[in-house]
Amino acid sequence: MKYCCHCHSEIHKKAWVCPYCKKSQRNKIAINLIAFFIILYLIFWNALFNVSNYSENSNSISYSSSSSTKRSAPVIKTPVEVDLETMFTDLDSNALNAKDSYKGKYIKLVGKVSIIDSNGAYFSISNPTNQWNFNTLQVFTSSKNKSMLKKISKDQLVSVTGTIIDVGEIIGYQMQLDSVKAIE
Ligand SMILES: [Zn+2]
Repeated sequence: MKYCCHCHSEIHKKAWVCPYCKKSQRNKIAINLIAFFIILYLIFWNALFNVSNYSENSNSISYSSSSSTKRSAPVIKTPVEVDLETMFTDLDSNALNAKDSYKGKYIKLVGKVSIIDSNGAYFSISNPTNQWNFNTLQVFTSSKNKSMLKKISKDQLVSVTGTIIDVGEIIGYQMQLDSVKAIE
C-alpha cells in the first residue's frame, strides 16, 4: 500500500492513477527527467540528420553543377542568317526599331572587310552590295578568336557569326565575334 501523492488517499502499490482523485501517481521529477532525455535524444538525432543531410546536399550540388555543365556543353547556338543590306536599311529607316530587332541576337551575315584594327581588337564590315552605304558593322574580337583576324584582309568578302551587342544611328552595329571566315 502507498498514498496518493495528490489527495493522500491510501491506494494500491502498483496503481498508476489514484482511484479517488484520478491523478497520475508518476513522479513529476522522473517524468521531467524522462522528457529531458527524450528532448536531448531528439536534438542529437536531429543534429546528426542535419549533418548527413548537409553532406548529401553538398554532394547533390556538386553533382548538379557538373551535370549542368555537361548539359550546357553540347548546346550549339544556331545563328540567324541575316542580310547586311536589310540590317543597314532597317538602321537607316529607324535606329530604335533596328536596336529592338537586332540587339542581343546571335546572327550570321556576309559583308566586306573595310577596316582591320592593328591591335586585333576589332574589324569593320561594310555593305558589299552598295558601296554608297556608309553604315558599318564593327566586330569586336576576344582573345580566343583574335587570331582569326590574321586570315582576313581588307575588301575581302567574309562570313561573320556573332552576337549584336549594340546598335546606334552613328555607331551602326556592334558585334561580339564568334567566328569569321573568308569567302572564296
Ligand atoms: Zn488521489
